[in-house]
Amino acid sequence: QVETLKAKLLEQAQEISRLRSELGGTDAEKHRDLLAAENERLRQEMKACEGELRELQRQQQQAPCRDCPHLQENAGLQEQLSQLQREAEETRAKLAELDLEVQQKTNRLAEVELRLKDSLAERAEEEERLSRRLRDSQETIASLKSQPQQIKYIIKTVEVESAKAKQALCETQSRNQYLLEQVGMQKQVLKEMEQQLKSSQKTEAQLRAQIMMYEAELERAHGQMLEEMQAMEEEKNRAIEEAFSRAQVEMKAVHENLAGVRTNLLTLQPALRTLTHDYNSLKRQVRDFPLLLQETLRSARAEISQAIEEVHSTNRELLRKYRRELQLRKKCHNELVRLKGNIRVFGRVRPITKEDGEGPEAANAVTFDADDDAVLHLLHKGKQVSFELDKVFPPQASQEEVFQEVQALVTSCIDGYNVCIFAYGQTGAGKTYTMEGTAANPGINQRALQLLFSEVRGKAADWDYAITVSAAEIYNEALRDLLGKEPQEKLEIKLCPDGSGQLYVPGLTEFRVQSVEDINKVFEFGHIKRVTECTNLNEHSSRSHALLIVTVRGLDRSTGLRTTGKLNLVDLAGSERVGRSGAEGSRLREAQHINKSLSALGDVIYALRSRQSHVPFRNSKLTYLLQDSLSGDSKTLMMVQVSPAEKNTSETLCSLKFAERVRSVELGPVSRKAELGSWPSQEHLEGDSPGSAAPPGRGHASPSPGQLSSRSASIRRKLHTSG
Ligand code: ADP
Ligand code: MG
Repeated sequence: QVETLKAKLLEQAQEISRLRSELGGTDAEKHRDLLAAENERLRQEMKACEGELRELQRQQQQAPCRDCPHLQENAGLQEQLSQLQREAEETRAKLAELDLEVQQKTNRLAEVELRLKDSLAERAEEEERLSRRLRDSQETIASLKSQPQQIKYIIKTVEVESAKAKQALCETQSRNQYLLEQVGMQKQVLKEMEQQLKSSQKTEAQLRAQIMMYEAELERAHGQMLEEMQAMEEEKNRAIEEAFSRAQVEMKAVHENLAGVRTNLLTLQPALRTLTHDYNSLKRQVRDFPLLLQETLRSARAEISQAIEEVHSTNRELLRKYRRELQLRKKCHNELVRLKGNIRVFGRVRPITKEDGEGPEAANAVTFDADDDAVLHLLHKGKQVSFELDKVFPPQASQEEVFQEVQALVTSCIDGYNVCIFAYGQTGAGKTYTMEGTAANPGINQRALQLLFSEVRGKAADWDYAITVSAAEIYNEALRDLLGKEPQEKLEIKLCPDGSGQLYVPGLTEFRVQSVEDINKVFEFGHIKRVTECTNLNEHSSRSHALLIVTVRGLDRSTGLRTTGKLNLVDLAGSERVGRSGAEGSRLREAQHINKSLSALGDVIYALRSRQSHVPFRNSKLTYLLQDSLSGDSKTLMMVQVSPAEKNTSETLCSLKFAERVRSVELGPVSRKAELGSWPSQEHLEGDSPGSAAPPGRGHASPSPGQLSSRSASIRRKLHTSG
């Protein structure tokens, strides 16, 4: 047993030494030292790199290249560098951590070693104790050998004690086992540390590679920078050279110019001399000029004043002659007016229209005299009948031409004359066209008002004028207001209660007009009234007389003189003879009324032109209403409208006979005789032969001088002086 124990002890000692060598604390330490050295080396390299970098930056600051692409690149690289530095810093921190860990592990190893030493010392002690006991036991055995009893006893004790030793051995073995485990754990820790070391080495290698890459980049950037600086330097040199050579060329040219200018100067000098000479002579002439001028002016003035004197005397002579001529003209004019009377008769032939149809019915039956614009020929039933009026308008005559002949009448209204313009003729002969016209081509009505406006405007400096308009209609001898609120209401014509003998229509609406727009509104208003009141406007309008009454009231601001002129524009009812074709009822009544009023108008005009003492104004509403404007020195124009169509010749003939009768009264002694005659009714007109003398019929007494003087009372030229 002792022997085996000894062997085991030996084994244990060996094991301990092996473990000690295996623990290899020194190896790990070596490894750690190695890593520390490597780390130190890397740190040194990094420092060197940073130094280089600083040097490069300094260089760049000293010679900065502006707008260089490398600057940007450089910034990028710097960014990268700082990134790398950061990474290196991190690695360094990791390394420090690892160092700390290694330190801790070394400490633990030292502890373990210490513990191992303790346990070894314990073992040695135990061994010592055991060997001592062994020696004691051997001594005892020897003594026992001599004393057998005693030996037996001792063997027994030894047996007992050897059990105890066995137990101690077991304990030692378990302790050994624990120590082995500890060693295994330490090995594990060591392995991990090695792995960590390896990974840090790898990171370090990567870092180094990055640093290298970065260095290469820096070098490349530096190289490029240098190259560019060189190129710029070269360019600068080249530019300086070019500028220099150009300056030399220019200098040369300037020198040449200078030479040319010098030669020019030399040639200019003689010219300057001659110029100076000329200038001096001119100066002399200028000095003498005023004298010369005065002389010439004096003679010219004398000549001119002589000429002026001559012209003056001629002018005086001419003026004298002109005044004499003017007086003569006035006298002639007055004579003419006296001869012609105040009643004028015009004829107007409308063009053939689509409404006339086609064929022989629509053939033209009216011709004109090329040399005389007052003559018209009508072909009726194969016979040519000629008529002479004051003026005849052919179909092509425009509205404007017609108005030109009328405008003198219209303007006399401003001077306080009363004027009547009648359109007479069969339905469709152009009465409405002449008076109203179309929107695009207005007739006498609108043109007259426009003329009045412009005339009034021309006199506005001295006169105040007010122009008012009334519109009325006479149908079946009933007078109606076309502008009033009650168009159906029949108006009465009354004598002024002031005893002036003037007539007025109570309730007749008057509108003050100042512009063409105003007139258009009034016309439109009247037209609408007429349209809404009648079922068949065309029919109705051809059976009624339409009157537009324009009143012009003036006040001369300086003298206080007041004038009132009236312009009556009358679109008469159709003059065709309906009654003869056997009309009945209302149609017959209409025809009778029209016939009566047109005959009355003829009678009145006839009586006026033949200067009869009695003028039958009261025979119709129309003549009664227009009494003021027909009598006295009022002016009247009868526009006889005719159709040129073959089918209308019989009506045309009637209308022209009516016209010629009106006119014939004033012509010479024959017309004077006509004073004894009477106006035929409309019915009788057709039967008369054209150009025949006095119409037959109702007798009228010839006016006595006293009766004639009564005409003066009816003078309606309203001239009042105020104050
Ligand atoms: P009235 O009033 O006599 O019955 P209108 O004036 O209505 O006749 O004329 C009948 C037709 O003839 C209308 O269509 C009108 O435009 C046309 N007319 C009349 N005179 C002329 C003219 N001078 N030029 C052109 N057309 C005319
Ligand atoms: Mg008409």
